[in-house]
Amino acid sequence: MTELLPPLSSLTLFPSRSMSYNAGVFIRDRQAVLVDPGLFPDEVDRIRAHIYAQAAAPTRIVLTHSHWDHVLGPEYFPGVPVVQQQESVAVLAEFGIHIEHQVTEWERQSRVPRDMPFLMPQPDETFTDRLKIALGDKTIELLHAPGHAPEQLVVYDRAEATLWAADMLSDIEIPFVMHSLRAYRQTLERLAQLDVSVLVPGHGRPAASCADVRARFDADRAYLAELQHRVEAALAAGQGAAETVAACAGMNYSNRDQNEGPHRLNVETAFIELGGTAEPGHAGWNRFQ
Ligand SMILES: [Zn+2]
Repeated sequence: MTELLPPLSSLTLFPSRSMSYNAGVFIRDRQAVLVDPGLFPDEVDRIRAHIYAQAAAPTRIVLTHSHWDHVLGPEYFPGVPVVQQQESVAVLAEFGIHIEHQVTEWERQSRVPRDMPFLMPQPDETFTDRLKIALGDKTIELLHAPGHAPEQLVVYDRAEATLWAADMLSDIEIPFVMHSLRAYRQTLERLAQLDVSVLVPGHGRPAASCADVRARFDADRAYLAELQHRVEAALAAGQGAAETVAACAGMNYSNRDQNEGPHRLNVETAFIELGGTAEPGHAGWNRFQ
């Protein structure tokens, strides 16, 4: 449990030893809602032990999106309904086998010991824009939040002003615009209206004050606005993908060493989305890389 969350919070974090990944559990009145409950089997065991130590029962598993690192864990909770955003049905139909392969490849390379085979989760319950889930005497909300992935959702605990931000608003990653720049910007505008004092990204450290939360929104909104502005200017000037990448190389963003590759892919993806033509070697994000 991270010390950054308020002590009486319904939410407990389970940071993984890999990829700064976060899993989470909301518990209230002996009911537990799990969020992205990965990664390693021993880490899932820890989540399960925590739930049972509180004499709680898992009522739902929420998967924020279908990237391979966010679909691990449900196989350890058989019979517990999996909830995803509606778009995940089409995503899984098209890419499910590929995602499953990514999981098994990661397990092989990381020598993950497994006493139970990985099963690609399928949603038992879906929603379009918003879903309220009962959790003891209160509700938590799932909100569709496309941009990083078309099926991405976030989890909002209104009573505790806590936002589980999925793969957005990280302190270590810039926005990975793997789906749509326009959708990503709209999602951030929508979420910025919420009252949030604790924010948990899918990868990275939580932001645990309103000022920290605001700073993360501001940084990512500014980055995406400048990205769109520069790419549109390059397109208006008739530049190609390679020239547009060069025109965006000087943009300001954090952790440059780590984020340089994702930034380039963002530029290429935005270039295509905003009307440019893909060039060899400049095709942007592969949705499941
Ligand atoms: Zn992702």
